[in-house]
Amino acid sequence: MSYDRVEVPSSGERIELAAGDESEFDVPENPIVPIIYGDGVGTDVGPAARRVLDAGVEATGREIEWMRVYAGASAREEYDSNLPDDTLDAFREFKVGIKGPLTTPVGAGYRSLNVALRQRLDLYANVRPTYYIDGMPSPVESPETMDMVSFRENTEDVYAGIEWEAGTEEAEQVREFVAEEMNFGDSIHDGPVGIGVKPISEFGTKRLVRRAIDYALERGRDTVTLVHKGNIMKFTEGAFSDWGYEVTAEEYGENVISEDTLWEERDGEAADDTVVVNDRIADNMLQQLLTRTDQYDVLAMPNLNGDYLSDSAGAQIGGLGVAPGANMGDGRFVAEPVHGSAPKYAGQDKVNPSAMILSGRIMLEHLGWEDASELIYDAIEEAVLDKRVTYDIERQLDDAERVGTSEFADVVIENIESNA
Ligand code: NAP
Repeated sequence: MSYDRVEVPSSGERIELAAGDESEFDVPENPIVPIIYGDGVGTDVGPAARRVLDAGVEATGREIEWMRVYAGASAREEYDSNLPDDTLDAFREFKVGIKGPLTTPVGAGYRSLNVALRQRLDLYANVRPTYYIDGMPSPVESPETMDMVSFRENTEDVYAGIEWEAGTEEAEQVREFVAEEMNFGDSIHDGPVGIGVKPISEFGTKRLVRRAIDYALERGRDTVTLVHKGNIMKFTEGAFSDWGYEVTAEEYGENVISEDTLWEERDGEAADDTVVVNDRIADNMLQQLLTRTDQYDVLAMPNLNGDYLSDSAGAQIGGLGVAPGANMGDGRFVAEPVHGSAPKYAGQDKVNPSAMILSGRIMLEHLGWEDASELIYDAIEEAVLDKRVTYDIERQLDDAERVGTSEFADVVIENIESNA
């Protein structure tokens, strides 16, 4: 592969797919890893996270050869394009990477770059682990009961982006078709109307649910919950739930069962290695997350439900400054924090880099580098318990010391070095 304007680090090696397995990687001790710092606060948290990840990885005798690539504002400066081929090619070639947030100007005529990146690389699962770090302030009474991983479908539902603006010829054509040919005339008010289409496919649903179940089996999790609004949207959200149960019944053995089977055939008793698949209506699920937090483990969701639920769950364990995520496809992986580019704080060395660092931690786990991941987790926890934290956490704690983005990274690196 040749690149126009970025350099491939000459000393690093490629991550390859393990022979005969599309989902496992062969990881060298010095992999080349593409990184996008991102827009807005990405220029603060990107470099800070990179330094912390380096410290954790080097403490365990390995090295990451970073390959800086561009998207968003930085790409426009270098390439006159928001999402250059160099960047997409690097993520394809090197398989595992990390990105900071990218800005989507509201109403500026182009769709989200994040969505474009996820779609072009077919990163179909957006995975968000939500767990409590000791000492973290929280708006709920028992935040430590949260230990959940959300799998949000990343390519369809609202991310398909199929919609037409009110007043356009296209919107009128669709209205006419829906009202007259499909007999939904009574369902659409007169006057201007914007119309969207919500595709949810068997293929998209099944590969997402499969991924969630596989994760639950690998990590010894007890349940996978399908979160949908199938009581109202029977043929999209309801189908998501039906197809999820089909995967459960048809593709796994005795140790993956539905909640119905658990009660009908096993008196509600699940063996330790069994994953039970159940489902919840999305609005109920939002309150269940607050009232019965500890009952939820792995969630599998269509795109929009996953967006709302994972942000809300993130608030319970400290907020967007500490909420990590990753996008996964077959043989591809791009870590990214849940938060956006928070433009009002850009370049101030102020915001919390933990979300980006913890996203990098998911990446390290994906590479099989659990030891480096643990070192980094412990070092962040220590910083929080010592109350040396960025503004978002400091404002919720008594007697805490407020540090900036880069100073927080320094504190975490000190902790890594003294614990290694
Ligand atoms: P946002 O950038 O996530 O910021 C919302 C608020 O969250 C901030 O004002 C701040 O709250 C808090 N926050 C975010 N990151 C933080 C951090 N690292 N440390 C501490 N606090 C943090 O959401 P937005 O303002 O709605 O979106 C801004 C832009 O980002 C938009 O263009 C949006 O499309 C884009 N976006 C990109 C991604 C992505 O790249 N994956 C995701 C979401 C949004 P306080 O002001 O209360 O301190």
